[in-house]
Amino acid sequence: MPIRQLPDTLINQIAAGEVVERPASVVKELVENALDAGARRVDIDLEEGGVRLIRIRDDGGGIPGNELPLAIQRHATSKIASLDDLEGVSTLGFRGEALPSIASVSRFAMTSRCEGSEHGTRLEVDGGRVGELRPHPHPRGTTVEVRELFFNVPARRKFLRAERTELGHIEEWLRQLALARPDVELRVAHNGRPSRRWKGEGDLLTGLRLNEALGEDFARNALAVDHAAAGLRLHGWIARPTYNRASADQQYLYVNGRSIRDRSVAHAVKQAYSDVLFHGRQPAYVLFLETDPRRVDVNVHPAKHEVRFRDARLIHDFVFRTLHEALAETRAGAVAGVPQ
Ligand code: ADP
Ligand code: MG
Repeated sequence: MPIRQLPDTLINQIAAGEVVERPASVVKELVENALDAGARRVDIDLEEGGVRLIRIRDDGGGIPGNELPLAIQRHATSKIASLDDLEGVSTLGFRGEALPSIASVSRFAMTSRCEGSEHGTRLEVDGGRVGELRPHPHPRGTTVEVRELFFNVPARRKFLRAERTELGHIEEWLRQLALARPDVELRVAHNGRPSRRWKGEGDLLTGLRLNEALGEDFARNALAVDHAAAGLRLHGWIARPTYNRASADQQYLYVNGRSIRDRSVAHAVKQAYSDVLFHGRQPAYVLFLETDPRRVDVNVHPAKHEVRFRDARLIHDFVFRTLHEALAETRAGAVAGVPQ
């Protein structure tokens, strides 16, 4: 075969292979977009574990009608404009890849209205085929509908699991987002029935969202951590060693508000617990690491599950020392629990 340039839709479908693994990845990308748009409330409607329908509606800033076709173009983003912006990025999105990828493997529609617009505008995309812009009533904010995910990619569809499994993955992502943003209300409905509501007024400090997300047992056994040094801040909650897990299922780490996995930080935490935890048991924690965005490279992974630290060793030691000290206090009996 001669070398040829692939058509846009196929390029998007290839990219979708990295960004859109299952319904939960769609929910993650769309809710992150809503948060980046300043939403105070996000409604998430799902059908059949998100396979039949994912509808995310937000009350954020919206998109001007004439920019909708651009929003679904590859590498089109309002979040960065230069390498310098990329290096200091503080939004959850920046790659401009999610919408075109999702729209290329589903029956997609986006309706949006921004402040000052007289009406909303809607754009439909069917498996990558872009329709016409139409006026459509909508309050300020954005609604994205994703129907029949992977309808045109049978190889992908085959890997979708049972409704309950897909729903479980979605709920886990939402839990991660909910822990980071207790100021935003999230409402979830599945198959027409309300299934979960994260109230917007709760903040982690009251323990409310902590209770909701990780259970009362965790909240009752949580120690508050908040320590800053050398331009780094680590805050959040770690469970007393007496509360521990068989698996790493309650380990939440955020770097500048983004939920990520990081071997080195996870190792630092484990090490801090090493002399107070039984061998083979796992600690539970919700930790937020804040640092100058310029000290973290977030552009490592298309789905943004990982970051790279400029000074990984420093961060490892900072996390270890902070938690080691917090746990030392428990040994001394000076315990600061979650206010109930
Ligand atoms: P990215 O988030 O990386 O910029 P996306 O493909 O997810 O890329 O979105 C493309 C652009 O569409 C965003 O940069 C933003 O300007 C706009 N957009 C997407 N979703 C929303 C939303 N819910 N509210 C307002 N603008 C949005
Ligand atoms: Mg995005």
